[in-house]
Amino acid sequence: MAIDLARAQALPKPWGVADLRPWSKVDHDGDRLVGEIWYERPGSAASNSTLLLKLLFTSQPLSIQVHPDDAYAQSMGLPSGKTEAWYILSAAPGAKIALGLKKRLTLRELREAVDDGSIASLVGWRTVSAGDVVFVPAGTIHAIGAGLVIAEVQQRSDATFRMFDFGRNRELHTARAVAVADAGPAEFDLKPKRLTDERTLLVSDPHFAFERIELAPGSAFQLQAEREAWLLVVKGSARAGPFNVATGDAVFAQSDSLDLAAGANGMIALVASTGIDGRNSILLQRAAQRSATDAAPAVKIQVSTFSTQTRVPPLPGHAGTTQ
Ligand SMILES: [Zn+2]
Repeated sequence: MAIDLARAQALPKPWGVADLRPWSKVDHDGDRLVGEIWYERPGSAASNSTLLLKLLFTSQPLSIQVHPDDAYAQSMGLPSGKTEAWYILSAAPGAKIALGLKKRLTLRELREAVDDGSIASLVGWRTVSAGDVVFVPAGTIHAIGAGLVIAEVQQRSDATFRMFDFGRNRELHTARAVAVADAGPAEFDLKPKRLTDERTLLVSDPHFAFERIELAPGSAFQLQAEREAWLLVVKGSARAGPFNVATGDAVFAQSDSLDLAAGANGMIALVASTGIDGRNSILLQRAAQRSATDAAPAVKIQVSTFSTQTRVPPLPGHAGTTQ
């Protein structure tokens, strides 16, 4: 059992930004552009989680890349592949992400497109805006454009195969990328699903559930971390266990129950968890009604029985959501 206030670590990147407000107050050298903030457990537990939570800040496009699934990663001696999901916190007008290809290619065509750089015009770019959700299963060719602030949850893995680097001349990993990529269009039309007044399920995958929770001013809940859960505050404030948290703060909980008391303006947070089926879990319970569930019956479902990607109807007032 554990509840930790996550340590936020700023990583300089050539495609990053100088001003992280209002999303993060992390200390950084103002002369260097920050591209990523990694949230880690404190001290020796830092790398001791199966999920990795990040913020991304982009002033240029990131590379076109693809990640392997668990089986391919393990064949390389790595512990896991990488499935990831993005929640768009902020988007400059016209800011885009790329997911999949415009049309299906043969493996030979894909290899040639990587070799001659034409892959850059073959990926499917889509304009995104704040509140959009993008699901990037392993094997999906993807890129993140300029002008975005993104909260990302992913399997903790370094396995990235670069296909195109927008002139930055870093190494490409053509053979491995072609071996693991799905060389066709990807599904953009994932719609979040409202579970309760407080909970919206963004992504449900065997590797993690990703939710947005919105707590009314002064309300009190318990977050049940069956195995591992990360909570990232994106608006407002709360008391979370022993910690006062506000925008840009994250809390890690493992096999534990995290008391949440929303501040005077309420709190909106993203929650990524393992070991819980997003649709049926008792992830969030009203503190005053601990015996009652906030949604469906209190069915606890193991990871191995997870459903695959959920297709759900659009959330009212949440138009433009993409996958
Ligand atoms: Zn990626």
